[in-house]
Amino acid sequence: MKTTALLVLLVGVLIYSASAGYSRTKIYEDEIVVRCTNVSRVQYQAISTQPGMDIWSIKDDSIDVRISRESEMWLRQLGVYCTMVHDSVELLIQQFEQKLTVQQEWFEEYHTYEEIIQWYEELANQYSEIVKYEPSIGKSYEGRDQPAVHITASSTSDTLKMYFQCQIHAREWISGAVCGYIVNYLLENYGNNEDVTKLLDTVEFIFVPFVNPDGYAYTWTNDRLWRKNRRPGSPCAGVDLNRNYNDHWNEGGSSSNPCSETYHGAGPASEPETQNTENYFRSHTGIVGAIDWHSYSQLLLRPYGWTSTDSPDEAQLSALGDEMSDRIFAVHGKFYTSQKSIGLYPTSGTASDWFYSDNANENNGEYRAAGFTIELRDTGLYGFLLPPDQIIPNGEEMIPAVMYYANSLLENPLKK
Ligand SMILES: [Zn+2]
Repeated sequence: MKTTALLVLLVGVLIYSASAGYSRTKIYEDEIVVRCTNVSRVQYQAISTQPGMDIWSIKDDSIDVRISRESEMWLRQLGVYCTMVHDSVELLIQQFEQKLTVQQEWFEEYHTYEEIIQWYEELANQYSEIVKYEPSIGKSYEGRDQPAVHITASSTSDTLKMYFQCQIHAREWISGAVCGYIVNYLLENYGNNEDVTKLLDTVEFIFVPFVNPDGYAYTWTNDRLWRKNRRPGSPCAGVDLNRNYNDHWNEGGSSSNPCSETYHGAGPASEPETQNTENYFRSHTGIVGAIDWHSYSQLLLRPYGWTSTDSPDEAQLSALGDEMSDRIFAVHGKFYTSQKSIGLYPTSGTASDWFYSDNANENNGEYRAAGFTIELRDTGLYGFLLPPDQIIPNGEEMIPAVMYYANSLLENPLKK
C-alpha cells in the first residue's frame, strides 16, 4: 500500500516536471495545517521560533501553522487551542500541481525565474520609451541576478518614486505574479488610460521582481513550500530575508535558530539579497512609497512591526490603508484588513519597517517612504498554493489600491 502511494507520488512529480518546468523532491507526508486562536504573545514567540513550526498566516486573533501530526501534542502542551485547516499538506500541494498546465495567456500561469526574467526583458524592449531595465542590482548567494525595472514618462531629475519589491518569500508565488500584473497594467495603459498616463508622467515606479531568486528557483525544483533564502547551513539552510533588514534587527518575532522559518541571520543585513536591495533603495532620492509584496492573509500592514507604539505618521498611514482596503473590496468583494504591522504579534528586521526607517531614508532628501507590507490572497483555503486562475483577479483588485497609494503619496508625501 505504501509502495503504491509512493509510486503515485513519483509519477505525479514526473508529470508536472514534464509539463511546466516544475519538479519536487520534498514530500510533505504526515504534515497538516492547524488554525490556533487566542494565542498569547508568549505562546506566539514560542511557536514562531520553534523548529518544525511553520507559521503560514496571522489574521485577527488566529494563526495558521504547518506542523507534523506529532507536533499537535507540543501545541496542546503549550496550552494553545487549534483546529484542523488542512489534514494533508501533501494533498494540498498535489491539487495545486494538477493546475500547473501550460496556458496560452501569461497571467493564467505561474512561471520560472528564467521565464520571468525573459518576460521583463521583452516588455522593456517593447515599451523602451518608458522602461529602463537593469539586468542586475546585485547577485544572490547562489549567483542569480536581481533585476530592477524602472517605469516613468517623466524626464525631470527630481521625479518622486514608488519602490515595490516582490518574491522575498520564495513560496509566495502570487506576490511575483501580481507585481508582473501591475507592471504590465501600467505599460499597456500608458497613453490609453488618462489616470495611468497622468501618473506615469509625474512619478517613477521601481520594481525589484526577485528579492529572493534562489529561494524561488528552489520552490520550482525541490520544495514548493520553501520560504527563506538558500544560504547553506547544517543541519538547516536559509535565512528569512524578511527578518534580516537593518531596522531593530532581532528585537522580537524572529529567531536565532537556523532551523527556524524566521531565522534572522548572523547579523542585520547579513545576506547578499538584503544588502543588494538596501543599497539599491538607498541609492535613490525621492522615494515616497515602498511596498513589500507577500501572501497570504489579505492584509495591508503599515509601520511598525517591532513596537505597538504608533509611528509619527499613524493618522495618515492608517487612513491610506483603510482607503486602499475600500478600493480593493469594490473590485471583487475581497476584504483586506488594514492595520499596524504588529497587529497582535511583533516582527522585527522586516523590509517594510526598514523602508520607513532613518537608515533607509538617509539619502532620500526631505522624504520618508511610506513602508507597507501587503499580504495578497487568500485567507487560508489554498494559502501559498493559490491556483493560477486567481492571478488575474488578484492583480485586478490591487490596481485601484496601487493607483490610490501612489496618487495620495504624491499629493501628500511623508516628510522627515
Ligand atoms: Zn511573506
